[in-house]
Amino acid sequence: MADIVWAEIGMPGWSGTIRSEEADGSVYVEGACPRCKHGTAFRIDRGLPGGLGAKGGRGDGDVFTVICACGYGHSDRPADSSESGCGAYWYDQEV
Ligand SMILES: [Zn+2]
Ligand SMILES: [Zn+2]
Repeated sequence: MADIVWAEIGMPGWSGTIRSEEADGSVYVEGACPRCKHGTAFRIDRGLPGGLGAKGGRGDGDVFTVICACGYGHSDRPADSSESGCGAYWYDQEV
């Protein structure tokens, strides 16, 4: 497959990632990136006191923006970017 250059492209509707919630209230999303197909893992720190624990753990209908962080060297990534993936982003939500 040809090299996939870095680009900030939305991939709406992708649900091929698995979300898990950690004890400290942060959310961890992992799976295959819909654009570059690399495996990616993305950690979302909610930073909320009390976090998810308040009502048994699961926030209904929460939607998180997930950014590809596959760690592969996609070309054209801006040097000052803190991202480590191909630039694709999508929305992880409960289904
Ligand atoms: Zn990639
Ligand atoms: Zn990607």
